[in-house]
This record gives sequence, structure tokens and C-alpha cells, in this order.
Amino acid sequence: MVVVGLTGGIGSGKSMVGELFARLGAVVVDADQLARESIDRGTDGFDQVVSFFGDSVLSNGAIDRRVLAERVFADATARRKLESIIHPIVRSQFLQAVDALHGEEVLVYEIPLLVESRAEGLFDFIISVECEISIRYERLRARGMSSNEIDSRIASQATAEERAAIADLVITNNGTQEELLREVERIWESILPALQRAKG
Ligand code: ADP
Repeated sequence: MVVVGLTGGIGSGKSMVGELFARLGAVVVDADQLARESIDRGTDGFDQVVSFFGDSVLSNGAIDRRVLAERVFADATARRKLESIIHPIVRSQFLQAVDALHGEEVLVYEIPLLVESRAEGLFDFIISVECEISIRYERLRARGMSSNEIDSRIASQATAEERAAIADLVITNNGTQEELLREVERIWESILPALQRAKG
């Protein structure tokens, strides 16, 4: 089995690369989704958040993520507390996904903040998806984000250089979806099987 870390700046095309790997047969897990699920109603994470932040973060019995985001935005202590609740749960879900792999299965773990969370030791192979900034803007604006939102998200993330420094391979996604698919197929057909052999 091979465990791949998939990262990249917002709007670079990570999710699309994840989808393409899934179509080829990889098990794809998204760290952001695990983080959202970690505080769903009925979970231990939910109880911890409500006991620390209080009922004011609830709306119709569920945690209102927008309210929670506002609470931690300008309060570093609260942010660290929230991270200390979410991170261990996400980490344990990730490890369970690794444990569940059989034979030659490939796990692709989509983790936008791979550099920021110093997670590089968890993976056999790290891919960073990069894309020219003007194209990222164009694609994200088409997805409904404002320039301000895009700017603040980009400013809060590691840089392309920092991601490249820990990546085994950088996918440049400035072209068409067809070109992206060919690159993902090349990785699936030649690079990952070679890694399987080297590990096995
Ligand atoms: P990320 O997960 O890195 O934030 P996404 O995979 O969501 O990025 O891609 C951002 C947007 O750009 C999405 O709407 C996606 O459909 C689109 N996109 C990604 N790659 C391409 C491409 N090669 N050609 C056209 N649109 C693309």
C-alpha cells in the first residue's frame, strides 16, 4: 500500500486531482471533511466544543461553523483550543483509513495545510498541485469567491515554494482538465506502482 499526501494552495486544483485519483481506483480522504465531521452533532468533538465555547456557537442544535470561525478568528487562545479538539480526532481518523488499506491499495489524503501542520512524515509520497495565481483567481471567482476572500485565504497559507520544498512531485495545473488527467494517469500508472514495488 502507498499513502500519498496531496496538497496545494486554494484554487490550485487539489480536489480535482483527488477526484481523478478516485476515478482511477484510489481511496481518497479529505482532511477538511474529516475536520468538519469531527464536530458533527453526536460526536465527542461536538461535546468538547460546546463545553468550551458555550451554547452561543449552536444554531438549531448543530455547531454553526461561521460563528465558531468568527470566535476563533481574532482569539489565538480559542483557536489553539479548537485545534487541540479537532486535530487529534482527524489524526486518528486518518490513521484508521491507513489501517484499513489492503494489499496494493493507494490512499490519497487531501490535506491543504500539509506544510502548516508539519505532517510530511505521514506519507510515502507528497504531491503539491500548483497553478498560476491569475488562473487560481479566475477559477475561484467562477466558484463564487470574492477577491478579498481569495486574498485572505492565500495569505494565510504556506507559499508555493514552501510546499515545493516538501513535495516529491509538483503538478502544474495551468492547462486543461484533459492535461491534468493525463498527468494524474502518468503518476498512477508509473510512479505509484514503482513505489509499491520499492516498499514491498
Ligand atoms: P482546490 O481543491 O485546490 O481549492 P479545486 O480542485 O476545487 O481546487 O479547483 C478550483 C476550481 O478550478 C474548481 O472549480 C475546479 O473545477 C476548477 N479547475 C481545477 N482544475 C482545472 C482545470 N485544469 N481546468 C479548468 N478548471 C479547473
